[in-house]
Amino acid sequence: MSATVIDGKAFAAKVRGQVATHVTALKNDHGITPGLAVVLVGEDPASQVYVRSKGKMTVEVGMKSVEHKLDADTSEADLLALIQKLNDDAQIHGILVQLPLPDHLDEDLVINSIDPAKDVDGFHISNVGLLGTGQDSMVPCTPLGCLMMLRDHHGSLSGMDAVVIGRSNIVGKPMAQLLLGDSCTVTIAHSRTKDLAEVVRRADIVVAAVGRPQMVPGDWIKPGATVIDVGINRIDKPEGGTRLVGDVDYESCAAVAGAITPVPGGVGPMTIACLLANTVTACCRANGLPAPEGLTA
Ligand code: NDP
Repeated sequence: MSATVIDGKAFAAKVRGQVATHVTALKNDHGITPGLAVVLVGEDPASQVYVRSKGKMTVEVGMKSVEHKLDADTSEADLLALIQKLNDDAQIHGILVQLPLPDHLDEDLVINSIDPAKDVDGFHISNVGLLGTGQDSMVPCTPLGCLMMLRDHHGSLSGMDAVVIGRSNIVGKPMAQLLLGDSCTVTIAHSRTKDLAEVVRRADIVVAAVGRPQMVPGDWIKPGATVIDVGINRIDKPEGGTRLVGDVDYESCAAVAGAITPVPGGVGPMTIACLLANTVTACCRANGLPAPEGLTA
């Protein structure tokens, strides 16, 4: 068997197209331009790349993009004051504070100071609680992207056995909540899970969010299962240089799975597309309009 490749790059382009259509309608029908503010503290090179790319794509879908670049030694008080200003700004519908923050800043305090209605990363404790209780919330972008791809591939996920490897607040836990919300039977595995291979072999859906290159081999995968690889790991190539790989061993898993996301070009592109989707959702809700169908959980 050779797995269907779930093309995250193409899917993300489609989602961005849907977002752009909604943005045009908001502008034409209501005179509203959705606005996303991204706050970057310090000069982490990877974060700078992410922020640049988020800004570019925000503009491409017709939204207003605002970037705040603060020095690495910015005080917590100054950062909180900026967030308060953005919370109060009616033209800003989404606020994202790029993580990680420098060590002297309390990440939880900062995230929880964002207005939950503008928390397009879905990390605010109120949104975590809303998601956990099955209510409308802002949903973390990476798991939302995984869910969209799974729904697109399968239609209904009801009754499927899903195993999420990884229990981080950013990916693993919200992913499990979303799959539960779609009536999967969900197992969350982590570094203390006994006999992970056997746990994974039960799954119709495997979501790997571990951060360990090519950790999941093909003989852990049930024939025909769908494999969503969230991992982004850079490894050395034998001939020199480096390349990106996921948390699953792509070749051996693709030989057994029914469908699989590649790395790169799978989950990664969906994350920014879902950030834009969340910003449109936040904008609609702020203006008493229904959230766009298909772009939310
Ligand atoms: P974290 O490091 O926060 O969490 C990793 C999880 O994996 C932990 O729950 C840990 O368990 C578990 N784990 C570690 N080792 C093992 C093991 N041997 N067996 C089973 N479970 C294990 O990572 P993130 O969730 O933030 O990210 C996971 C991966 O996804 C990374 O590669 C990251 O780069 C990528 N990522 C990709 C994104 C995208 O846009 N595509 C976005 C976000 C992340 P325990 O809790 O017990 O320590």
